[in-house]
Amino acid sequence: MSTSVRNSAPSSEIPVIKNISSFIRQTSWVPPDVPGTTSPPMKQIERREWWLWSSVVIVTLLLTAGIASLALPLLHSETDSSYRENIRQSLRGLLGLVLLFDIYSVYQQFRIHRIRRQLMSRDDMFRVISENAADMIAVVDANGKRIYNSPAYERLLGYTPEELRTTPALEQVHPDDRARVAHAAEQARKSGRGERIEYRIRHKDGSWRVLESTASVVRDASGKSNNLVIVNRDITDRKRAEERLQHNAFHDALTDLPNRALFLDRLERAFSRAKRHPEYKFAVLFVDIDDFKKFNDSLGHAAGDDVLVQIAQRLMSSLRKNDTVSRQPHEGEGPPASHDSVARLGGDEFTILIEDIHDASDPIRVATRIQKVLAATPLSIGEQEIFASASVGIALSTSPHERAADLLRDADLAMYRAKDLGKSRCEVFDTAMHANAVKRLQLETDLRKAIEHGELCVHYQPIVRLSDMKIVGFEALVRWQRPHVGLIPPAEFIVVAEESGLIVPMNRWLRLEACQKMQLWQAEFPCNPPLTLSLNVTAKEFAHPGLINDIVQALEQTGLEPSSLQFEIVETVAMRDGEKPEGVLRQVTALGARLSIDDFGTGYSSLSRLRHLPADTLKIDRAFISRMDIDGDNRAVVRTIVSLAHNLGLMVVAEGTETLEEVNELLAIDCEYAQGYFFSRPVDGETALQMLRTGLCNQGSSSRVATAKPLPLPVRNPR
Ligand code: C2E
Ligand code: MG
Ligand code: MG
Repeated sequence: MSTSVRNSAPSSEIPVIKNISSFIRQTSWVPPDVPGTTSPPMKQIERREWWLWSSVVIVTLLLTAGIASLALPLLHSETDSSYRENIRQSLRGLLGLVLLFDIYSVYQQFRIHRIRRQLMSRDDMFRVISENAADMIAVVDANGKRIYNSPAYERLLGYTPEELRTTPALEQVHPDDRARVAHAAEQARKSGRGERIEYRIRHKDGSWRVLESTASVVRDASGKSNNLVIVNRDITDRKRAEERLQHNAFHDALTDLPNRALFLDRLERAFSRAKRHPEYKFAVLFVDIDDFKKFNDSLGHAAGDDVLVQIAQRLMSSLRKNDTVSRQPHEGEGPPASHDSVARLGGDEFTILIEDIHDASDPIRVATRIQKVLAATPLSIGEQEIFASASVGIALSTSPHERAADLLRDADLAMYRAKDLGKSRCEVFDTAMHANAVKRLQLETDLRKAIEHGELCVHYQPIVRLSDMKIVGFEALVRWQRPHVGLIPPAEFIVVAEESGLIVPMNRWLRLEACQKMQLWQAEFPCNPPLTLSLNVTAKEFAHPGLINDIVQALEQTGLEPSSLQFEIVETVAMRDGEKPEGVLRQVTALGARLSIDDFGTGYSSLSRLRHLPADTLKIDRAFISRMDIDGDNRAVVRTIVSLAHNLGLMVVAEGTETLEEVNELLAIDCEYAQGYFFSRPVDGETALQMLRTGLCNQGSSSRVATAKPLPLPVRNPR
């Protein structure tokens, strides 16, 4: 109770009111408008007044009788004078007594009057307090009947005092809370003051409100418990706010689905249940939306959010079909899973807990159902309709894990496997995946050390101008010289470097190293235009805000001209929709560096978008170049790409040129540059220098190289 009235007692005879309930208890106050009742102090005053007036009457009668009996002899003339004198003196004495008694009576009456006034003003004060208090104050008699209800009841619960008075005190209390309320009242009657309890009460409009309540006993003069004064506070809003906060702590704000913490909690419970009932099995589905980044990048973040909300709804609807906790799934429908077992871990990751499964086929059926529901109809995002698919990883409770987080991690790994195997599919976790994950983690740790210990080195592969078979530049390619293992090609660690972010420091180092080399080579072999250095840039680096700064620093430290740099970006990254890729590409070209689209032909990108990119070179993927001499289709594709590139003012480099026939084909279709084992494999800096000195490339050792003759070999077809 916080309602307090300080310094409001009119005199020291009335206690200072600290709070309403203690005031009621201390003063045994009874509300003034309770019919037929008077407060105990007032009763005492009335009793005192009655005694006073009774004694006044009795004493007055006695004294009057005494005076009369004394005065009678004075009426007889024969009474002797000395006797008369005695009587007169006695009468004087009696009259003096009467006077004293009257003074005393008047004084007593004055005191009683003063106390009555004080009590009345206290009653008034309490009436004002109870009528204006935000809390509801009720007085309940020994039979549980309400005998007083403060006006706040009507304000807060809608009932008039009359309606409350005519109904039993527990009538409006929620049926589930009645026993608790009755018990608290009983305790209060026994101990004098009940515990603070919370309970629900029905508003007149039918809704439920939550009250916080304390009951205190008002005892009568004999000390027997009499009425119960209950002070109730409406805490519905506070309760709602608390519930909201609690909800927010365990739910995702965007989809309102349970979040990671709540999902892990449910998973822990499933584990405990499985311990108690070994026959109980469950599974975790880890659902990740395929290419979600594409939606975000192309449609914007608001639309991306919309996609997530719609997918969350689809996930729930695909589970709701079997929204029952009892077992016995129908043929082909999979096990039951309630829609509240779906959670959003963050980003485009959702998880689902499937309980009471028989074996792995049950969660697989649920995963298939989810994929069907997603594929059935497109999502409507604004004006657009888009199709979304998901990759699902499944982990079963039959694994040896005992911790929720471990099972979730297994499902996550299985989901990654589903992505690796082509997306829009589901994979069940197995131990080989775990072994792979451990291996991958080890690789990451080793790579981190390798960068620190300088185990990386750069190899250079020449790029040759086909018209005169001259080396015009080199592509820098990273290698890992692993102690006791040997030279590791980038295919085995670039992905790990990319995913772990190690690619950023790794390529920062590589750029500096290669720029230094190129600066020395340019000085030793001046030509026009100068030798170029091609450097690969990955998606992660591309998104790294420090990229441009890193490039500028490498150029400043080595003194290499920006125009000697050719950055290679794979087609899929360069062609991504959205503002950002194009913006960074333009920043790179603004420095004066040039841009190549690497592995062109593998990304199925729209060729028309090429004209919007600031690139000046296309590197045709080696998949098209190899077999070009024997496969007519490949030849046609390469010819088309070359002519399209020329139309757009781009130069072309043919990657993976391995045979003389391929070189001749490339010459025939006017491809300007080539790179491949036919000319040289990637070699260390020293060998590359020798190559520049002799003006010859090492002939590749590929078995497909038709001849081992030194350059220049190919014949230009007259056109
Ligand atoms: P890429 O940029 O397309 O590099 C060309 C790859 O093709 C190199 O493989 C090269 O050795 C290989 N290659 C060249 N000619 C032939 C040929 O005639 N036949 C065949 N079969 N292959 C040929 P490598 O060095 O293993 O690099 C593979 C990929 O790894 C590169 O593809 C590039 O995307 C990435 N990479 C390599 N080094 C780096 C680096 O330092 N930084 C970054 N970001 N990526 C790198
Ligand atoms: Mg490249
Ligand atoms: Mg390439």
